[in-house]
Amino acid sequence: MPTSICPECSEEVYVDAEVEQGDQTVCEECGSSLVVVGLDPIELDLRDEEGYEQNDRDDFDSYDFDDDRY
Ligand SMILES: [Zn+2]
Repeated sequence: MPTSICPECSEEVYVDAEVEQGDQTVCEECGSSLVVVGLDPIELDLRDEEGYEQNDRDDFDSYDFDDDRY
């Protein structure tokens, strides 16, 4: 089973042998959500949590848009 290094805690993370770029996994050591950013060798990066914040911001934008107090 291939392994890579967790960018958060530097522990080895086991990844599926058929992993593909963009796949997501979780570090069993620190629980970080990781995304595969490279395959040769396998590189892992922390999953971009700002993406979720942007989604929240989109919700706020539409919320403001509905607010017609201006
Ligand atoms: Zn980790």
